[in-house]
Amino acid sequence: TPLIKKQAPIPIAMYGGRHAVTMLPGGGIGPELMEYVREVFKYAGAPIDFEVIDIDPRSEESDAFDYAITSIKRNGVGIKGNIETKSESAGVTSRNVALRNELDLYINILHCKSFPGVPARQKDIDIVIIRQNTEGEYAMLEHESVDGVVESMKVVTESNSERVARYAFEFAKRTGRKKITTIHKANIMKLSDGLFLQTSKKIAKEYPEIEHNDMIIDNCCMQLVSKPHQFDVMIMTNLYGSIVSNVLCGLIGGAGLLSGRNYGDHYAIFEPGTRNTGTAIAGKNIANPLAMLNASIDMLNHLGHKQHANLIKNAMMKTVAEDHLLTTDLGGTAKTSEVVQRIIDHILQADIRA
Ligand code: ATP
Repeated sequence: TPLIKKQAPIPIAMYGGRHAVTMLPGGGIGPELMEYVREVFKYAGAPIDFEVIDIDPRSEESDAFDYAITSIKRNGVGIKGNIETKSESAGVTSRNVALRNELDLYINILHCKSFPGVPARQKDIDIVIIRQNTEGEYAMLEHESVDGVVESMKVVTESNSERVARYAFEFAKRTGRKKITTIHKANIMKLSDGLFLQTSKKIAKEYPEIEHNDMIIDNCCMQLVSKPHQFDVMIMTNLYGSIVSNVLCGLIGGAGLLSGRNYGDHYAIFEPGTRNTGTAIAGKNIANPLAMLNASIDMLNHLGHKQHANLIKNAMMKTVAEDHLLTTDLGGTAKTSEVVQRIIDHILQADIRA
């Protein structure tokens, strides 16, 4: 019998017809991009109230992390930038990883879909990466056993492998996708990746209508850059997910374009797909605002505010595909604020205000 049968509904907070959402701006470009999200939401009339919490990555003592957890548990939904994890704070565990673990956000979804008007190395891509989001190489169980020898534990459990596989097959069924590929390195990591692969094969038997195959991670990276159209939905463990997400984002528009979604049985967090901090480009008005805006659109869709989501999405599409107003990372010359202003102009000009 399957360990987890169904995906439970996610509770969400609503007060006086407006949803409350936790906002964690994070470091680097996070705060400026969140400001733009709030600006765009204001003009789109999106009925969302943000509860903003700043987490200091250098302090384990700060209460902010606990407030953030409490706030997301209360609201059910969050939007976040990346919380910086610098190497000099080696003793401090990544707040990003801790947050996902604490809220048991075991699924990360990245929908890698080519964006009209964005110059890219590969065209017409439509791939969904479903990544195990809480264990694998991110178990953070590392120690120096003797001087100069470090051991790091990769944790793979049957229950989490099963939750990911089941989520992926249910997702494929719901969205009409035809094929799932399990990405692994089970030829070398026979027990850990072996368990992940075997579990996905077991679950695949329950969904005969969906094709299932598997591929070794190294071959997968090569196939992705040369023949990406063979992929539909991919499932993988945590670290491979991070790497493959970056490969795919690089193929269709870089770090500033796509959004990623984190789900558990109870909570959801939306964020830019490649989770960069962007410290070097912060405060220069050059960061691409689209990834965070796409995250905010995902969040509106999740909360059922489809009209507001579409209003912003269409304004963004017009800005990119018709006006060709792009930031430098996408080969354009526009400043962040110019792109956002144009999106707002399109929202104000839209025939039907949501
Ligand atoms: P750090 O924490 O040191 O900033 P990181 O792993 O988070 O490192 P970044 O260096 O922030 O990675 O990001 C990787 C690359 O992607 C950088 O060249 C950065 O400028 C670029 N990048 C990330 N986000 C954006 C964005 N929104 N717009 C434009 N470029 C971006």
